[in-house]
Amino acid sequence: MPSAADRAGVLIVGAGPTGLLLAAELVRRGVRARIVERESVRSPASRALAVSSRTLMLLDDLDLAAEAVRRGHPLRQVEVHDVSGRPDAGGGRPGGSGPGGSGRSAGRGAGRSGGTVVRLPIGRVPSPFPFTLSLPQPQTEDLLRAHAARLGVRIDTGVECAAVRQEGDHVVAQLRHADGSTRTVHTDWLVGCDGAHSQVRRAAGIATHGFDLPETFALGDVVTDWARERAHGQVTFSPAGVVAAFPMPGPRHWRFIADLPDLPGIDDLPGAHSDDHADHSDDHADHSDHSDGQADDRADDRADHSDDRADPDVAAELQRLLDARLTDPPRLTETLWTTTFRVHQRRAESFRRGRVMLAGDAAHSHSPVGGQGMNTGLQDAYALGWRLALVATGRADATLLDTYAAEREPVADRLLAGTARATRVITAQHPVARRARGLALRLVAASPPLGRRAAAALSQLGLGYPHGPLTDLDPHRIGRRRGVPGPGALAPDVALAPDVALAAPDGPTLRQATRTPWFSLLLFAGSDDAAARRLHDDAALIHARFGDLVTARIVATAPTVRDTRDDPSGGEHSGGDHSGGAHSGGARSGGAHSGDDGTVLDPAGRARARYGAAIGEAVLVRPDGYLAYRSTTDPVGRLERYLRTHGITPAPAGVAAPASTTAAGRTS
Ligand SMILES: Cc1cc2nc3c(=O)[nH]c(=O)nc-3n(C[C@H](O)[C@H](O)[C@H](O)COP(=O)(O)OP(=O)(O)OC[C@H]3O[C@@H](n4cnc5c(N)ncnc54)[C@H](O)[C@@H]3O)c2cc1C
Repeated sequence: MPSAADRAGVLIVGAGPTGLLLAAELVRRGVRARIVERESVRSPASRALAVSSRTLMLLDDLDLAAEAVRRGHPLRQVEVHDVSGRPDAGGGRPGGSGPGGSGRSAGRGAGRSGGTVVRLPIGRVPSPFPFTLSLPQPQTEDLLRAHAARLGVRIDTGVECAAVRQEGDHVVAQLRHADGSTRTVHTDWLVGCDGAHSQVRRAAGIATHGFDLPETFALGDVVTDWARERAHGQVTFSPAGVVAAFPMPGPRHWRFIADLPDLPGIDDLPGAHSDDHADHSDDHADHSDHSDGQADDRADDRADHSDDRADPDVAAELQRLLDARLTDPPRLTETLWTTTFRVHQRRAESFRRGRVMLAGDAAHSHSPVGGQGMNTGLQDAYALGWRLALVATGRADATLLDTYAAEREPVADRLLAGTARATRVITAQHPVARRARGLALRLVAASPPLGRRAAAALSQLGLGYPHGPLTDLDPHRIGRRRGVPGPGALAPDVALAPDVALAAPDGPTLRQATRTPWFSLLLFAGSDDAAARRLHDDAALIHARFGDLVTARIVATAPTVRDTRDDPSGGEHSGGDHSGGAHSGGARSGGAHSGDDGTVLDPAGRARARYGAAIGEAVLVRPDGYLAYRSTTDPVGRLERYLRTHGITPAPAGVAAPASTTAAGRTS
């Protein structure tokens, strides 16, 4: 039996986006964490293309967003066309512009496809990144991998987690290396980020529930001279089926997705038959439960065979479907990646069992409609990271981990229900259902607020935990007013400089000014000097008592002077910067909008107005960016009560880990 010291740490199974982010989140908070990844060669499959506005804000917290935006392609609108009523739509256009065919059509622009056009404005959401970014998944993983490497995260590739067993106060994992040898690792905590066919989930005895959708889809990432607006995604309903198209980075790069008609021979396409996947997954998993999974795509299985990335049969079928369904079908001149898939909606019945947790596709898998999968996995990792860091370093009760499951399981439920509904609506073929869809589209077209609501859902900015276990609703209903963020809401970002837009690339913002790996307490002083002085005292006391677990920042219209005569911290922090050094800076961060005394300068009162905050009000922001509570009395006592209530020791949390952090686990 290894000693407690030997086995301290967290073992993460799977180096997909979820595992990479989780490891980095743990290590930057001083936890020993290590990843094992089954594959030795990384998958080139582009899979997740849509990076939501919420995810970009998360990446910005880690200083990765600017690079993501540089590499990606912003999408500002989704156009939905219903060409069902057009005489030339869905007629098949046999012999159209297939690969090697007669060339593309006249290239009629957006809005000229006829029928109903609904425009969803996904480029105007309230965020420093007010758009959805088109960025292939390997690029997002590159950014996360480099970030994890900078922090010293160890990734062992070619190592499969073959078995997991919980023993009292630790977990025993059996690791199978590429050379066939096995090792046993003891770890305090284990997180399965091992995708839709999670072995960790099965080994932990966590069942899944869900259902299958009948449709099969073909997907192709292609090069084409399609004359549609490059900042717009396109969804076209025709009597023959649906086509979705999204611009990708690259001058003429697009992704096309179409549902496959139920025709003889369709099942011969690779991946179109769900048993295909079962055949392949046997290579990797001893205990495969073949009913699990998200898209039954073969992307993972092909990962090692880059010459097999673009299947000419799938490309030809896709071209045929585009010719049949679009009024201006593009000619696919080059195919970069293809896949076909069926959709299984699945969610693990529990995201935590003892010392084993699940995140990302291992916890929930669903239709790619709406592009929510990777984004949700990243939010899982962000939600779990700080909690597990507090627990793993002995700063919080293990019950804090139950709040991860309690918050994220309902998110997965809503996601599964929403994506299933959307997929059914999109693929509906019954004439009555199609008429209902047409009617709904006309309603949205006539009502811009409905369109804005749909766009907001895609951005994931509206997602919060107002009824979550870590949300303290105030009996006086502070912040429960319309338009004002209440407890449980995502802390809105605000441009601090008076004449700068929130989306300006270099504009100072509130989030940038108050970044910290742990909790952030906003103390609103406005232009009231007396209030500011009182709040400075509170902030100093908070720093003395909680260290970097809580960074208190006074938000005021002008630099404020602190009276240090009765300094509760013994003068140690006179000057008023109560960040304890936790403020991590960043591309748009820091000094430009902070006073010398550590005040967050809000000269036009924009932040206070956006938060609807009274003078003297305290707003606690959790490490994952959600409001914990709002309070107008006793900032220090209120904070202490909150932390204790939720099993968090109100004492310094420890500093970010040095790059040399050792990896978790003891091998035997
Ligand atoms: C066609 C398609 C399009 C999509 N489009 C979007 C989109 O636009 N936006 C979006 O947000 N999402 C999209 N998704 C979903 C997205 O790809 C997934 O949600 C995302 O990859 C999940 O990340 P993950 O890290 O949880 O799991 P994965 O990416 O599946 O990573 C799991 C990792 O674990 C490893 N592993 C598995 N078992 C073991 C084991 N036993 N031991 C060690 N390692 C193991 C695997 O090799 C893999 O590297 C799409 C998916 C598909 C198929």
